Amino acid sequence: MASRAAGTYPEVPQPLPSPGVDTHTHLDICTGARGPIKSGEPAPEVEPEADEEFPELSFFHDTAQQAGVTRIVQIGCEMSAARWTAKVVAEEAAAGRDWMLGGVAIHPNEAPRLKSAGLLEESVTEIEQLTAGDRMRVVGETGLDYFRTEGEGIAAQQESFRWHIEIAKRRGLALQIHDRNAHEDVLRILREEGAPDVTVFHCFSGDVAMARECAEHGYYMSFAGNITFKNAAGLRHAASIVPPHLLLSETDAPFLTPHPHRGKPGGPYLTAVTLRKLAEIRGEPLAELCRQITANAEQAFGSWALERSVTPAR
Ligand SMILES: [Zn+2]
Ligand SMILES: [Zn+2]
Repeated sequence: MASRAAGTYPEVPQPLPSPGVDTHTHLDICTGARGPIKSGEPAPEVEPEADEEFPELSFFHDTAQQAGVTRIVQIGCEMSAARWTAKVVAEEAAAGRDWMLGGVAIHPNEAPRLKSAGLLEESVTEIEQLTAGDRMRVVGETGLDYFRTEGEGIAAQQESFRWHIEIAKRRGLALQIHDRNAHEDVLRILREEGAPDVTVFHCFSGDVAMARECAEHGYYMSFAGNITFKNAAGLRHAASIVPPHLLLSETDAPFLTPHPHRGKPGGPYLTAVTLRKLAEIRGEPLAELCRQITANAEQAFGSWALERSVTPAR
């Protein structure tokens, strides 16, 4: 991704006929923001280039509103991003903007790096502390990624995944799972540990058989922009058989920007493109699908509405 300045983003699509939701996005990366890094901590794997320009948070808020994507879940999945996430979701709520809930975890690709630095255990402890705010509703993304990891790295991922499952259950929060080339081990560890009440496969990447298995367990399946890619026929087939009450939508922005904008950076507003594709795949009216997914998201993560302290009339 050469540049992520505002001018390089795809234009805002037609607004959705009913509010849409992006249940998994990385605005810390989209805005080039970082929270503090502690001494000895490895620098984040996805780091902005020194001369890169980024849009402000307000660009992502405004474009999302314009596209009718009124609810998002900001996910911070390395330590500095997790610190940023906890801070920003609280600030947005304090400013009266109800669009954002938050989730934090150590990404499966970060776990081996923290383990090598001797910091995995204390980092997991800090993640649990960061879930304390009332706008923090998700432990994620955690899970397994065997695409780039082998040997001892896998052991570190599994250890971290098990800890995150424990935190989600202890704190009564939803678990968002990153599963890349690791379907069997992810399902096995969930079975062994006992899955949290709300378990979500973010950026679902399985086939029809995997979707059926997730449905049997009552796991949510969240679909990202890659369902629009030419080579994703198998994924579209899986998306077509997910029971309506377990279906979610997301961007994983700035990654996985949907067709025809593939290769450009993305933001939560592009959930509108993915939702249109999902409606087409499933043969459902778009407005109905948006209402269903929003209801599912509120069921999974709780309400986005800001609590207002009402002074009782006397
Ligand atoms: Zn992921
Ligand atoms: Zn992600």
